Amino acid sequence: MTDLIENGDEKAKIEQTAVTQCASCGGNMEFSPETGALQCPFCGSTQEIERTQNNTIELNFLEALEKEDHSWDDEKRVFTCDSCGAETLLDQDKVADFCSFCGSSHITVSDHHAGIKPALVVPFQVSEKEAVEKFKVWIRKRYFAPNELKKTYRLNRLSGAYIPYWTFDADTQSAYVVQVGTYYYVTVTRTVYEDGQPRQVTEQVRKIRWHMESGRYNEFFDDVLVKASENVASGLVKRIEPFHLKDLVDYKMEYLSGFLAERYSISLPTGWQDAQQIIDRRIENGIRGQVYGDIVNITSVSTDYQDITYKHILLPIWISSFRYKDTVYRFLVNGQTGKVSGKAPISTGKVALVVIAVMMLVAFIIALLGNYS
Ligand SMILES: [Zn+2]
Ligand SMILES: [Zn+2]
Repeated sequence: MTDLIENGDEKAKIEQTAVTQCASCGGNMEFSPETGALQCPFCGSTQEIERTQNNTIELNFLEALEKEDHSWDDEKRVFTCDSCGAETLLDQDKVADFCSFCGSSHITVSDHHAGIKPALVVPFQVSEKEAVEKFKVWIRKRYFAPNELKKTYRLNRLSGAYIPYWTFDADTQSAYVVQVGTYYYVTVTRTVYEDGQPRQVTEQVRKIRWHMESGRYNEFFDDVLVKASENVASGLVKRIEPFHLKDLVDYKMEYLSGFLAERYSISLPTGWQDAQQIIDRRIENGIRGQVYGDIVNITSVSTDYQDITYKHILLPIWISSFRYKDTVYRFLVNGQTGKVSGKAPISTGKVALVVIAVMMLVAFIIALLGNYS
């Protein structure tokens, strides 16, 4: 935490508990992005978390559809925001006072299930202080923002949230029918008239010979990543990607100490449909690469998806907003890479100046070209 953060609302604090108590003072320990270990906010003691990457267990998708999985319910409680609908997960003894996704204080504990326990997590690597620094660099670069913005904005508190994603594996076998076009050239002679005089010209004209072809295409897909939530900040999440999945480690509740998690709002079957669209596009590209021809039009593809497995994973983001002239602008910082995205006010005066400058430049170039022609 930094003293530069303006805490707009005293209530605007999420009190989460750590799952582990400090061996020295009994305080609740929190996950520290700087050290990757648990740290006591009271006495500074640290405790290592054993990082493992053995969670290769892929859960069977079809079995999951048959039974509802509530494996995370014993750790987490669900808070639902009445304003934006986002569902925040906190440790059982924690309370949320405001919604990190929209800032509303209309957030209440609900009896919804926490659902499927995550298999893997990318732990935070960017601390709150670093996230604030990244934000400050970002806002200095808002060249179209009013000049006074940089002096007068008020930064709200940052929330560290783990955002849910699904990854799917699938073995696919496809049967396809394609229309293949091959170029060939014919020599045509035609008559043209120049000054009323007929003249014969010959030229090469490209034609296409079409035929139908059918075949089979097999590909195994590993870790196809799709969003598992649709919150008010989702549009911004896209712009702080990518996340590097090589840093995924086995989920341990310690990584979430001091942070919150968002519950998936996109169900497993819907997530699979999204993944299937990605897979189908890649299959079509694969078929195009396999078929020999100048043009390949796909007529039909019928795919058999086998051994579908899934994982619920969590990726780290810092969410916050700043206030400028009574308007709140949301921004996100990637908790792994520090990449920032957000909305900022735009100065119409500055935009107008640039438009005028561009128009003058264009006029200048036209005048210059005129001189040389
Ligand atoms: Zn302590
Ligand atoms: Zn909300």
